[in-house]
Amino acid sequence: VGCGAKGVLCRGEAPSSSLCTYAPSGLRDMGVKNSFEEAVGNTPLIRLKGVSELTGCTIYGKAEYTNPGGSVKDRPALWIVKDAAARGLLKPGGYVVEGTAGNTGIGLALAGNALGYKTVIVIPETQSQEKKDMLRICGAQLVEVPAVPYKNRNNYVHYSNRLALELARTHPEGAIWGNQFDNVVNRVSHYETTGPEIFHQTEGQVDGFVCAVGTGGTLAGVGKYLKEQNPDIKIALADPDGAALFSYFDKGVLESQGDSITEGIGQGRITENLRGWGTPKRLGGCVDFWYQVSDFEALPFLYKLLQEEGLCLGTSSAINICGAVKLARSLGPGHTIVTILCDLGTRYQSKLFNPKFLKEKNLPLPSWMDTPSGDRI
Ligand code: PMP
Repeated sequence: VGCGAKGVLCRGEAPSSSLCTYAPSGLRDMGVKNSFEEAVGNTPLIRLKGVSELTGCTIYGKAEYTNPGGSVKDRPALWIVKDAAARGLLKPGGYVVEGTAGNTGIGLALAGNALGYKTVIVIPETQSQEKKDMLRICGAQLVEVPAVPYKNRNNYVHYSNRLALELARTHPEGAIWGNQFDNVVNRVSHYETTGPEIFHQTEGQVDGFVCAVGTGGTLAGVGKYLKEQNPDIKIALADPDGAALFSYFDKGVLESQGDSITEGIGQGRITENLRGWGTPKRLGGCVDFWYQVSDFEALPFLYKLLQEEGLCLGTSSAINICGAVKLARSLGPGHTIVTILCDLGTRYQSKLFNPKFLKEKNLPLPSWMDTPSGDRI
């Protein structure tokens, strides 16, 4: 199939999409961006040396933390806002309301600042102080609510929905509910940008992709795009303890066991973003393998990466990297595997680099953190 055919990329050619502004000019190809919008996406792929050597595969991490808001959620955030504006639901000065573990909120707040909208974020109070501080710095109005299950009407997702309806009713400039879990603009953003970038950056030589699920936008969007380019590319889910997808993928029932300190991932239901695209192949989706990953086995990869490779990554990246090791073992040596480096470890400093917290959770403590004072690195 020649260059220019739908969905086919050639070396040196950037993916195109309707909502995303990819760099057509020479200057932009050199990394010059004109705006926040242009700075979202086109993130580097970084070879993870330790886990590549461990498995005999080439394991790449897609450095989503290099997005302007510092996470993989800038892409869907920007797309959700632009989609709502394009459909006439948001007028200048209108409100974007969302329930989020934090990263989507940061992306929405920054997109709102860049495009002229206000942001109201509903966040479970258990999320890290660093993300809450960042949201406030970005100018978002923050509503902290108790962390209660999805079936409770006061869960942050339902709460944010009601708040959006109320603001839309009382403010002529309008308000939208981002609805990242069930608004499929989320997975489309990854289908149209993250997936093509990975295929392009590996020159099509990618054998597997693996990631954890929060909304499912990344897994479903990237998975579907890669499968369409080459049905032999294996797609895998890495599920943290306490999430219910592993058992759903394995046995068809949503059951969860255990717990995890990870934030932004760990889903207990089949979101609209997962439905179809992000389910196992036997259920009509694109997922070939699924792994359960505990914090205990995942976190050491994170500390080793920081110490030996200079990458300071957040908790969901640990689950993803451990998932990549498991996928490498399923496929065998010699394969190329891509996963997502979702955000930076500094976003979870009070947990990830806090010996007291780690000890309380019975999690492995890196030797360099286990100082006599117990509270300093
Ligand atoms: N990692 C982090 C740190 C996140 O904030 C999120 C999103 N909540 C994810 C991973 C999961 O991404 P997705 O919503 O696309 O499943």
